[in-house]
Amino acid sequence: MMIKCDRCGHEGDGEEFRVIGNVMCCGPLVFRACPSCGNPVICDRQEMREEVENTARDISRRIEAAIQCGDASQARELLKDLSFLNQCLNLDAISDYVREKKREINRLERASASS
Ligand SMILES: [Zn+2]
Repeated sequence: MMIKCDRCGHEGDGEEFRVIGNVMCCGPLVFRACPSCGNPVICDRQEMREEVENTARDISRRIEAAIQCGDASQARELLKDLSFLNQCLNLDAISDYVREKKREINRLERASASS
């Protein structure tokens, strides 16, 4: 299986790209580090893009749920996963969403600190 790094263009077979972890604790997607630049690569194949998009949607639902229950640390963790995923998708909509949710989580944390 060939993998291509979308930051530096390094191409190699899957063995070369060290696995650095799962995108979500139980998710099917795995991060691999580019041996050349260290960029986390998650799109092993083009057909995985759909899977990545589904995972991104799933994560954003869980972010909403975490914010609803006031769980700021959980929401922050999920947000980190989502911005990692977006290194593969490169969608402006997701970067905007991440920025917006970060602000929301900060407000949440301030609110729970003062109460
Ligand atoms: Zn690279």
